[in-house]
Amino acid sequence: MKACVLDEHGGIEKLQIRDVPDPEPGPAQVLVRVRAVALNHLDIWVREGLPHLRLTYPHILGSDIAGVVEGWGPGVTGLEQGQKVLLQPAVSCEQCPACLSGRDNLCRRYAILGENTRGGYAELIAVPRSSILPFPEPLSFEQAACIPLTFQTAWQMAVRRAGVKAGQTVLIHGAGSGVTVAAVQICKVLGATVIVSSTSSDKLARIEEIGADHTILSTEQKISSEVKTLTGGRGVDVVLDHVGEPLWAESLGSLAWGGTIATCGATGGPEVSLDLRQVFFKQISLCGSTMGRRGDLLEVLPLVEAGRLKPVMDRTYPLEQAAEAHARLEAGEQFGKIVLVVDSR
Ligand SMILES: [Zn+2]
Repeated sequence: MKACVLDEHGGIEKLQIRDVPDPEPGPAQVLVRVRAVALNHLDIWVREGLPHLRLTYPHILGSDIAGVVEGWGPGVTGLEQGQKVLLQPAVSCEQCPACLSGRDNLCRRYAILGENTRGGYAELIAVPRSSILPFPEPLSFEQAACIPLTFQTAWQMAVRRAGVKAGQTVLIHGAGSGVTVAAVQICKVLGATVIVSSTSSDKLARIEEIGADHTILSTEQKISSEVKTLTGGRGVDVVLDHVGEPLWAESLGSLAWGGTIATCGATGGPEVSLDLRQVFFKQISLCGSTMGRRGDLLEVLPLVEAGRLKPVMDRTYPLEQAAEAHARLEAGEQFGKIVLVVDSR
């Protein structure tokens, strides 16, 4: 099969297109012909290298995969040849106490396709039967690939970790990212008022179109001051953050007493300082969030099919131009998801 592979960590020049052996589905696995795969910031981190990440080369990136069923192992039932499918971006052991109590993203063997295992920058991928999700009609393969990782991440962060409720006000940083695009829509479904900050007025105009109630242009307005103005001096109930260090002080300064800050990433830098007096006097909750439970997507997909949550696609590239796609994501030029078209049939 044709694939975009990595033979070592490094820059975009390390993304190489070549033929590699087809994956063989195991007894309980399904072979999927990939039609589209969406990029995530994770792809850049894995390409460049992460502490404790040991890859088996050649490695194949790609977590958000839409395609059709090509074949399956003898232990698999209930699928049809050519059936359109969307894949769970994560796999877990399905046997430990965390998995069996529905908290699979706390499984010690929780792995993400394209990070810890081979992913979808390839014509074929073999995945466990439990990774097969119903395809969200009437989306295209490219649109469907925009959904899994960011919506799962935003769903857990907003719904379960931060507990966003109707009537609350939520601040989200960074208008162009896939997580923000998902989180804004999810918070609107939950009935919250949403404020989004960005350095780009163009991106803020677009995030308003998908539901943000208020926007803050952080190059011209101090975020925490503007939040106070918008909330009558009270501050927001929840901050959903994936930027980290550059906006940390503004995030804390924007929170209402008793508020919650949830973090699922640190694209701007991971090291922050924390004055504990702010935490205990204001009774702030700080919570981390990574990915989501695999069942979360089964709650997200009906909302996608009903048109209440929408994929937002930035642009597509053929698989052969994966390096150009990475360059665009790395430069932060995108609004929504960048998608690689693996097979345009
Ligand atoms: Zn487990």
